[in-house]
Amino acid sequence: MRAVIALGSNLGDRQWSLMSAAEALNEVGEVVAFSSFLESRAVGGLPQPDYLNAVLILDTQLAPEELLRVCQAIEKIFGRTREVHWGPRTLDLDLITCDEQIIQSEVLTLPHPRASERHFVLAPWLEIDNQAYLPGKGEVAELLANLAR
Ligand code: AMP
Repeated sequence: MRAVIALGSNLGDRQWSLMSAAEALNEVGEVVAFSSFLESRAVGGLPQPDYLNAVLILDTQLAPEELLRVCQAIEKIFGRTREVHWGPRTLDLDLITCDEQIIQSEVLTLPHPRASERHFVLAPWLEIDNQAYLPGKGEVAELLANLAR
């Protein structure tokens, strides 16, 4: 399957964290595209450093739930420290889509429920796939244009 994964970091060497996560993901499949980095303000209203974000596309044989577990293991390896919800973290990996799959389980919601509102997800995703489509929501180019309005 083809997965779209959003990466974010707002602590430590942010770029190193994102690149290391991409390298680790390349061990469970093939990273076929990796966007450029962009900075974004933290969501949630708590005063905290800006995020560095990127999006990558991964071709993998893993099932979505397995890929989620891998993402969580990678977050742990890179020492995610988070005392408060939406507080700073060295690495955050979100599964945005897995092919066109719609999943709503206890541990995984696909497509990611907040992807369509997030510029830092949509813009880098569109950069690496100009046909990007968010199942149930529409063309990423259109979603992004609506956000900017
Ligand atoms: P967060 O700490 O905000 O990154 O959220 C992590 C939690 O969200 C974990 O418990 C996951 O099981 C759950 N989750 C549900 N859907 C997703 C998704 N599409 N990508 C990443 N985490 C997800």
